[in-house]
Amino acid sequence: MKVQYGNSHIELMQGDITLQRVDAIVNAANSDLIVGGGVDGAIHRAAGASVNEETSKRYPLGCPTGDAVASGPGDLPVKFIFHAVGPVWRGGRDGEPEQLRSAYRRCLELTIGYQCASIAFPAISTGIYGFPVDLAAENSLDETRAFLLSHPAALAVQFVLFDAGTYAAFARVLDGFAE
Ligand code: ADP
Repeated sequence: MKVQYGNSHIELMQGDITLQRVDAIVNAANSDLIVGGGVDGAIHRAAGASVNEETSKRYPLGCPTGDAVASGPGDLPVKFIFHAVGPVWRGGRDGEPEQLRSAYRRCLELTIGYQCASIAFPAISTGIYGFPVDLAAENSLDETRAFLLSHPAALAVQFVLFDAGTYAAFARVLDGFAE
């Protein structure tokens, strides 16, 4: 599923983000930038040890929730990995939706800052961090759409959703935007 916004588009697909050939892929990292499970584990396994060595050297204080930092790609066929820190879901009254939006926005700013034309996102915070998938889809896609509509650069934005349920949730929301 693919929808055009200004000069850019959002494309949804089901799959494994480590297999995407784009300029930048986004990792759902934790604020200590310590290698964890889920998509973070998969990205570090595929990228090799150099990525973790780089992030510990460049970002010894980690990365705050709602922000993102860049590293090289290691062995992955991309130019950059953006390590984004989404919120842990604590019931929704702790600013989690705005923190999730901020994590996506920061990655899109890095995409422009590092002169990338294409980026692939996972469904940040919807795994171990427990953010409800429907609400995550709404906030993630709405923030991305708003960013694309307010920036002239032509960006190809993929959401690479790992399982059919997450893909369906994102597709429902993106479909709803068109109505
Ligand atoms: P978080 O800690 O931010 O919740 P997780 O990695 O636990 O991050 O989960 C985020 C999402 O990434 C979940 O939907 C999970 O199913 C998905 N995921 C796990 N492995 C991959 C992968 N290789 N490619 C894309 N998405 C993945």
